[in-house]
Amino acid sequence: MNKISETILEINLDALAHNFSFLKNKLKANTLFLGVVKAFAYGSDMVTMAKELELLGADYLAVAYAKEGVLLRDAGIRLPILVLHPQPINFQEIIDRCLEPNIYSRKIFEEFEAVASQKNQKHYPIHVKFNTGLNRLGFTVKDVDWIASQLNQTTAVKIKTVFSHLAASEDLNEKAYSLGQIETFKKVSKNLSDNIGYQPIRHTLNTSGILNYPEAQFEMVRSGIGLHGYSNDSKIDLELKPIASLKTIISQLHKVEANESVGYNRAFTSNERRITATLPLGHADGIGRQYGGGNTYVFVNGAKAPIIGNVCMDMIMIDVTGITCKEGDEVLIFGGKASAEKFANTANSISYEILTAVSQRVKRIFVKT
Ligand SMILES: *Cc1c(COP(=O)(O)O)cnc(C)c1O
Repeated sequence: MNKISETILEINLDALAHNFSFLKNKLKANTLFLGVVKAFAYGSDMVTMAKELELLGADYLAVAYAKEGVLLRDAGIRLPILVLHPQPINFQEIIDRCLEPNIYSRKIFEEFEAVASQKNQKHYPIHVKFNTGLNRLGFTVKDVDWIASQLNQTTAVKIKTVFSHLAASEDLNEKAYSLGQIETFKKVSKNLSDNIGYQPIRHTLNTSGILNYPEAQFEMVRSGIGLHGYSNDSKIDLELKPIASLKTIISQLHKVEANESVGYNRAFTSNERRITATLPLGHADGIGRQYGGGNTYVFVNGAKAPIIGNVCMDMIMIDVTGITCKEGDEVLIFGGKASAEKFANTANSISYEILTAVSQRVKRIFVKT
């Protein structure tokens, strides 16, 4: 392993390939795979991840907002790209850059259809989302007749896929709720296809859905966090490989005498002599205030060192008393078995939040094992 000399996010592309094939092995041979690369591909690197997924054989990509899809097109990504939460102000650009919008309400349908017509589109691919219980985005099941009648009056757009999203796919205590959502989705998509005279591709499972509801794959599944090596299930996590490791180095060591304090507001004080290390990453790199105060650990030469005091904008301080280390030594914030999920859990957070928080200031480095 190369010696590092600044804060980096190391991304292991072999681990990505491993996770991709792990997930693919859970699918029927003809189930399509959509890779979710929104939010800079969960804080990793959107363009690199999209390129790798294209090479690995993903069938589709999804981003949250149009701007993210534009970045992918600028980088030469050719796969179809679903925009999960498109904003009307971006509809022109969505069409210009061959992005495909989620159409989730009557208003969004009308506004997108108008732009597609005005730009002389024929059968522009759209994705119709139904709300089956998450109550976030989506048509109600009662909107089917309205959608069908609109579709029968225009040739500007055509439904490529119909989809929904589970509210609690990772929580087996909510199995009955999830099965109810799946049943509703099955009915509403059949009702829709009966009314429009063709069968769009159907998809409703995210990573945890793939693992817990294999019977509900329909024609496609959508995975984001699984590609990054997390499954929301500690047993399955053992079979996946976290792809991202956040690493940094020790900038400076301090001897802190009894009753001295460390950091802003003197939030850490000790009644005995301690050795502390200052690390070059802080709020602006994604380390939230909740990680201070001594409950969260990082790893210095394999030993656990708590983050002490208040997190600063650009730095954190850790307690390395009793750990053999020197200035310049590498520190693992999270990665591998010291997973982002475990790191996040120390502060009541989850892998999704800490991964997407790693800011663009942190250099991304790609490795293969
Ligand atoms: C983010 C997102 C996903 C991916 O979920 P994971 O749990 O990361 O696999 C799938 N579908 C929708 C609608 C999403 O917003």
